Amino acid sequence: MNRILFFPLLLLMTACKANINDKNNIVMSDTVQKPLLYSRTDTTKVNLNEAEWKKILPKEVYTIAREKGTERPYSSPFEKSKEIGTFYCAVCGNALFESNAKFESGCGWPSFYQPISKSSIIYLPDNSHGMVRTEVQCGRCKSHLGHVFEDGPPPTGLRYCINGVVLDFEKAKAAEKKYNTAQGN
Ligand SMILES: [Zn+2]
Repeated sequence: MNRILFFPLLLLMTACKANINDKNNIVMSDTVQKPLLYSRTDTTKVNLNEAEWKKILPKEVYTIAREKGTERPYSSPFEKSKEIGTFYCAVCGNALFESNAKFESGCGWPSFYQPISKSSIIYLPDNSHGMVRTEVQCGRCKSHLGHVFEDGPPPTGLRYCINGVVLDFEKAKAAEKKYNTAQGN
């Protein structure tokens, strides 16, 4: 428990600076004020430079998604949520996790044992702060999501520890219908 809390808190104190300058792929032109890149159907990769990200993202999202920050533990309403549906990248709308892969890890952040598909996530070695970890980023927009650890439950044994700030949730329609029926609606 202490060990798990320690890692993200360390990151909070020494958030590293993202230094990604993609000069070849400018998706947004004169419409940078609108986050037009958010789409749940468009799978085109998103590549913006840091100045553009800063313009279009709310500050708390920017800090985590682009500066690899970490939200306060137990601060996300998604951490304890048991609603049925799909979690998307809050930055670009890429589908990341289904609620049925979510579990209560007790670590203070929304936790999942597997992503929706292999292409949902990008894995990168993270050797910062003298630790050997695996960072997970959104497969479409390369936003920092969190880390994956090998202490999760079956069937994968993995724990995707994700910042709730960079998640966007949509309730499953079937689940809503079932709920309404149960309520006599
Ligand atoms: Zn994304």
